[in-house]
Amino acid sequence: MVTITRFETRDVRFPTSLDKTGSDAMNTAGDYSAAYCLLYTDSEHVGHGMTFTIGRGNDIVAACIPYIAKHLVSKPLSSFTSNMGATWRTLTSDSQIRWIGPEKGVSHLALGAVVNALWDLWARVEGKPIWQLVADMAPEEVVRCIDFRYVEDAITPQEAVEFLRKAEVGKAERLEKVRQNRAVRCYTTSAGWLGYSKEKMRELLLQSKNEGFQHFKLKVGASVEEDIERLKIAREIIGDDAVLMVDANQIWSVPQAIEHMTQLVPFKPWFIEEPTSPDDILGHAAVLRALSGYGIGVATGEMAQNRVIFKQLLQARAITVAQPDACRLGGLNEVLCVFLLAAKFGVQCVPHSGGVGLPEYTQHMSIIDYVLFGAVGQQTPNGDGPRVPEERLLEYVEHLHEHYEEPAEVEDGYVVTPTRPGYSVNMKEESAKKYEFPGKDGVSWWRSDEAKQILDSEWV
Ligand SMILES: [Mg+2]
Repeated sequence: MVTITRFETRDVRFPTSLDKTGSDAMNTAGDYSAAYCLLYTDSEHVGHGMTFTIGRGNDIVAACIPYIAKHLVSKPLSSFTSNMGATWRTLTSDSQIRWIGPEKGVSHLALGAVVNALWDLWARVEGKPIWQLVADMAPEEVVRCIDFRYVEDAITPQEAVEFLRKAEVGKAERLEKVRQNRAVRCYTTSAGWLGYSKEKMRELLLQSKNEGFQHFKLKVGASVEEDIERLKIAREIIGDDAVLMVDANQIWSVPQAIEHMTQLVPFKPWFIEEPTSPDDILGHAAVLRALSGYGIGVATGEMAQNRVIFKQLLQARAITVAQPDACRLGGLNEVLCVFLLAAKFGVQCVPHSGGVGLPEYTQHMSIIDYVLFGAVGQQTPNGDGPRVPEERLLEYVEHLHEHYEEPAEVEDGYVVTPTRPGYSVNMKEESAKKYEFPGKDGVSWWRSDEAKQILDSEWV
């Protein structure tokens, strides 16, 4: 029996604003950061979970983690894992913390770190990568991990079990593809950050194309003229057959989104990602109605705060691609719920992965989605553009993997299936210390003179 003895939080930040990595129309200078929850036990196993933020405020998330993690201390791991759905409900039920959410914002980001640390610990104790822990579950066990309270009008637990049973056809073949690293194809955003010069973009697009990528995403939302110029360059390099996606990171109103995107029709984007506010379900539906005639779909999800938003986006036929985030949602339990809802509504999931630690998480997520659901639910009812008949598609960004003990890897444009136990977000100790915020004198980069250019700058 493994008992959780204590937890620790960490605030780790990488100074990515210095070279504009991650820059887009809304987020012009982010410092990719992670708020960590580490769960220590009376065994050699430690559970690692994190939430991604882009800098300032990471300390606020880290400060919220103890309010949730303290419920796990001095209790056996099995008391939580024997019914993960009930555990998740308990962890979201502190009424005073709930008041500052509920199930959204800082408290939910903190929940994501804690819940994923618990899953990571469970998988380590079982000696399995997370994807396999879930892939080995019977449909009833998967369904028991999900809190159905606010989604029962869209899918019931009984329906979910039947759905998963139906999808078991072909599961063995899918697992074989997972073993061959052919389950999840990657697209790249590495060339497309808005702050990159056209020369840098051209160079990186060419490099990604030569590495075998066939799907590319570019940030848009600057001036229309600028976007047209960037998309023209992109099409010249990637050709007409490659798949191009564009991402506006919420910069537009609904009419602006329609107006702007209509002018980008000649470049045949597969979808526009985050055209407007992530909370505006009917707004997304309006954008999709206006653009679907041109063959352009709508994607969102990286800032969709919980399963209720996804449920409504799906019910309102507002998106053609769902992009759940590993830790903006309340950890893997809620991610499983969104996979299930998306499959039910016939919308494919392409998890959000652009951030530190996210590719490490999402490689497991997309494999789980693929193994559990296969082609069930992959017939998009209103989306045009390329189908992903069985294999999944996932964003891959190249930055910061060197800080991880088990970095996400891509080979021939596909995810290399992780084989080590856990959820893969355990950071190297030396990186965690070097980039700890505010950190220790003489140890942390944030105490160096170089850091002053960020710390003393006006916020943008
Ligand atoms: Mg995005």
